[in-house]
Amino acid sequence: MPSDDVKPETLFTCTRCGDCCRGYGGTYVDAVDIAAIAAFIRTEPSVVVERYCRRSGGKHLLAQREDGYCVFWDESCTIHPVKPRMCRRWPFIESVVAEPQNWLIMAGLCPGMRTDIPLPRVRDCIVAVLTAEGQRGMP
Ligand code: SF4
Ligand code: SF4
Repeated sequence: MPSDDVKPETLFTCTRCGDCCRGYGGTYVDAVDIAAIAAFIRTEPSVVVERYCRRSGGKHLLAQREDGYCVFWDESCTIHPVKPRMCRRWPFIESVVAEPQNWLIMAGLCPGMRTDIPLPRVRDCIVAVLTAEGQRGMP
């Protein structure tokens, strides 16, 4: 369970600014993500791959439009209920556990993240989130 002291919702509230839905890093999607997106938009996984993904290093990435935004961005995430795991987990990711300073670097890009919480407490919270996620078997 997340820490009693600092809860995920205390550390982060998405402002839906869209800054993380734009850029060249890309959003990786696996078969589970693709199947969920396909069901949500009522099509086949193969269509999602063909129309909305591109390949990178043998993996699928969500395609980006010419303006750099994710193909599913339209003022907000149009597939929010089924957005890929990579999008859902942000900013509770392993790299902050490995190096808590990364939280501050990430916060420089994401206005939804608080920077006034001591980093050891941020780290503890993320460890708890990831542990709970692993226990639930989140893919
Ligand atoms: S950059 Fe942060 S606050 Fe903005 S949409 Fe992405 S997660 Fe939400
Ligand atoms: S799937 Fe949604 S949350 Fe993820 S990058 Fe695309 S628009 Fe943003």
